[in-house]
Amino acid sequence: MRAQPKASHYIGGAYTESQSGTPFDSLYPATGEVIAQIHPADDAIIAAAISAAKEGQKVWAATPPAERGRVLRRAAEILREKNHELSVLETLDTGKPLQETLIADAASGADCLEYYGGLAATLTGEHIDLGGSFAYTKREPLGICFGIGAWNYPIQIACWKAAPALVCGNAMIFKPSEVTPLSALKLAEALMEAGLPAGVFNVIQGFGDIGAKMVAHPDIAKVSLTGSVPTGAKVAALAGEHLKKTTLELGGKSPLIIFDDADIENAISAAINANFYSTGQICSNGTRVFVHTAIKEQFLKRLAERTSDAVLGDPLDEATSIGPLVSKAQLDKVLSYMQIGQDEGARLICGGSAAKVDSLPDGFFVQPTVFADVNDNMRIAQEEIFGPVLSVLNFDDEDDVIARANDTEFGLAAGVFTKDIQRAHRVIDQLQAGTCWINTYNLTPIEMPFGGYKKSGMGRENGHAAIEYYSQIKSVYVEMGGVEAAF
Ligand code: NAD
Repeated sequence: MRAQPKASHYIGGAYTESQSGTPFDSLYPATGEVIAQIHPADDAIIAAAISAAKEGQKVWAATPPAERGRVLRRAAEILREKNHELSVLETLDTGKPLQETLIADAASGADCLEYYGGLAATLTGEHIDLGGSFAYTKREPLGICFGIGAWNYPIQIACWKAAPALVCGNAMIFKPSEVTPLSALKLAEALMEAGLPAGVFNVIQGFGDIGAKMVAHPDIAKVSLTGSVPTGAKVAALAGEHLKKTTLELGGKSPLIIFDDADIENAISAAINANFYSTGQICSNGTRVFVHTAIKEQFLKRLAERTSDAVLGDPLDEATSIGPLVSKAQLDKVLSYMQIGQDEGARLICGGSAAKVDSLPDGFFVQPTVFADVNDNMRIAQEEIFGPVLSVLNFDDEDDVIARANDTEFGLAAGVFTKDIQRAHRVIDQLQAGTCWINTYNLTPIEMPFGGYKKSGMGRENGHAAIEYYSQIKSVYVEMGGVEAAF
């Protein structure tokens, strides 16, 4: 097996194996070959992870923030040094082309560790003058945080959760998606090598049942999930029952609105990035592309021409720009939506079916697909597909397109293309979405808070904002005079 880790879990600074349970396979989506076998956590593993995290958290919370920051920054450097090896692993686990993983996965994880490492020593409280007496605040950790990952950006998601949690003095137990279990273990190795005390970052494996057990565990103070809306609802309900602090990064069906004065080539680049990058498996994708009728046909013609330049193929070949979908289940789901779009009467511009890559006959490949004349009621315009399926909807009027863009239960992201600066801000102000772009799409630098409105999530990751979700403020009143009482 090409990517078998030393053991399934990483607890208390060392690889650990479960002594019970049936292992599950990790597949390379380009070939369907088994690259690793992983054991889900059993009760003994959960108990060991909790115990290690408790011990680690005590040591870590007592570590000066500046030193915590140094550890995170060293870990960032280690990820950068190992970027090629980690990118190959991420490609094997997700099927995403190496062309992408070399720049977007461990590399963005390193940016995240570096950013929070830099912030570490600045996380101070405030002094509040009460006229003689005073109060001060301090920012304290929550305790043990539990991170739950999705499969599309495995190491990036692990870093987006671990770095702000750790910088605030928490410990973390992270459960990657069962579909992509491998790279989080490498993050654990890098953090240990950087000097993180044992037990501060632990990885356990398993499916949703292990996730739910951990959410309900009395020693877990906070849960942060990246996943689908239905999973988010389950986690929120369970976390609510146990009054756990919760961050949810969920799905979307985001609008990308292209006005008739937009730079069309740039808008097409954005539409491509918003639908075909990572084979369309990105939560913030702009899958409802509203194009002004005055430029619609020109837009579609160039979009089809440029989409025909996509290189489907071996993800380990750096010339490949579109890899397979992550799994057979995802392949079946995406193919069914390609059929639904055609059955619903949308105009198929290109793609629409599975793709054959001669050298990889068992890979989960589909063609990048564009539908035009999509209307708001079609399922392909309402439901998250999570594959390379781009829907073009027509519009003429600004107010109308804003209302239609907002007519969804999701609210993760949105984009606007126009050269009219007043219109750009006016439209963005009215869009109900947590992360917005003007004249670009899907850039998520670590400095910028990320998260959803409506059913797309709760809380924020990245930027200074994430600190609020991994720490709690203690207010201390200091009496400088006497104490009065009624009797
Ligand atoms: P998923 O919801 O199926 O699984 C996500 C994780 O939750 C997995 O680790 C899974 O094991 C775990 N899980 C499942 N049931 C659980 C339960 N009852 N309790 C606790 N944990 C449970 O999602 P997925 O298929 O892995 O990922 C795709 C989805 O994630 C899409 O909807 C996508 O939009 C979303 N996503 C969101 C973001 C974001 O930042 N907003 C980023 C990436 C992906």
